[in-house]
Amino acid sequence: MTFQPRTPVALISIHGDPDIAIGQEEAGGQNVYVRQVGEALATLGWPVDMFTRRSHPEQPLIVNHSPNCRTIRLIAGPEEFIPRDQGFPYLLEFVDKFQAFQTETGIEYELIHTNYWLSGWVGLELKKRYPLRQVHTYHSIGIVKYQSVPDIPQIAQTRLNIDQLCLETAERIVATSPQEQQFLRELVSPLGKIDIIPCGTNIEKLGKISKTDAREKLGFNSEDKIVFYIGRFDSRKGIETLVRAMAESKFRHSPNLKLIIGGGSRSGCSDGLECDRIRKIVHELGLNDMTLFTGRILDEDLPLYYRAADVCVVPSHYEPFGLVAIESMASYTPVVASDVGGLKFTVIPEVTGLLCPPKNHLAFTEAIDRILSHPEWAKKLGEAGRKQVEAQFSWSGVALKLSELYTQLLSEPAQRLTIKQKF
Ligand code: UDP
Repeated sequence: MTFQPRTPVALISIHGDPDIAIGQEEAGGQNVYVRQVGEALATLGWPVDMFTRRSHPEQPLIVNHSPNCRTIRLIAGPEEFIPRDQGFPYLLEFVDKFQAFQTETGIEYELIHTNYWLSGWVGLELKKRYPLRQVHTYHSIGIVKYQSVPDIPQIAQTRLNIDQLCLETAERIVATSPQEQQFLRELVSPLGKIDIIPCGTNIEKLGKISKTDAREKLGFNSEDKIVFYIGRFDSRKGIETLVRAMAESKFRHSPNLKLIIGGGSRSGCSDGLECDRIRKIVHELGLNDMTLFTGRILDEDLPLYYRAADVCVVPSHYEPFGLVAIESMASYTPVVASDVGGLKFTVIPEVTGLLCPPKNHLAFTEAIDRILSHPEWAKKLGEAGRKQVEAQFSWSGVALKLSELYTQLLSEPAQRLTIKQKF
């Protein structure tokens, strides 16, 4: 590949540190997205700096991932984990530190790509200070999220305002699925420019090991019927639905039925509480013997778990994109997912997996049992999934699309934000 010198870009992801261990303390899809997009853009010749907030005094301030790509941690607020709903008060300090970094290093970012509303606000504020181009990816839309949570946080109105202002003023919004674009249009604003560029997955790393080898390495045998979940412990991820579905499975009393639940962190944090709640339900339903809680699954072990599974279940109440579904498909493993958000875009029912109404555990039981009962059909679903991911969802393909977008925006004049914000 030939490297063209290009202008440096800043990926801003305040609460989604691209260098942090995934699977704990709210770290999930956004962290993976920023890191993978950053690295893939760097291989296309873009100097990429990924800015995040330092959340521990021992974290290095700068981590070089490759000659063109690094994580830069700015100190804004206490150097400790702060839940995302409590991050707003530290944003102004983050903006000041970002500007100071530019002054100290002489680097001027003409294009910033902000991730999630907290970084979106930082982008708006920077754009008030000097002209630039802002690309924004939501990762989660406030108004959609608040429809699915029982407790609306105090910061909700601020977030809704910022979601709208980003859509109306950023040079481009990157929606990761047509469903996300539709929500933005219908629920946030008819104004603003949206491109659909999906998330991706590592097709070189996933799906390379055989199912037999993967099972052998993990200590499972060929008779096992393995149902796999991986992700953050958050009630909106619907792990409860999966557990209740397993309790109704026709294989329930077979010693071969196994439920693997991957992800999670130390207790005491919010995801630890959800983990404790799920463990309690597993216990109450008498599923202890079939269930394995692995905790956080390391990057190098992920391909083994995905490949060893007969079916991967994504029972989320809502999912803007859902990386897990395409990671599973890249590993030749069929997906049973909720019929929501980005999952409607990535999972093709009866072709690469099955979709079920969210929270409907009996529908999940039926879908999971169908796949477990028909291994030949499951194999076909898995192969079709792999093909689809290769065609549509590789990180290198995603980075090419973003690269084209950045190039186009950089050929247009940079804008300053002049309007007054209403918060
Ligand atoms: N993940 C991981 N190890 C874990 C738990 C999760 O690597 O122990 C990764 C998973 O492989 C996926 C991401 O975290 O890449 C979760 O992304 P998704 O879009 O499914 O959910 P989000 O976290 O954005 O809600």
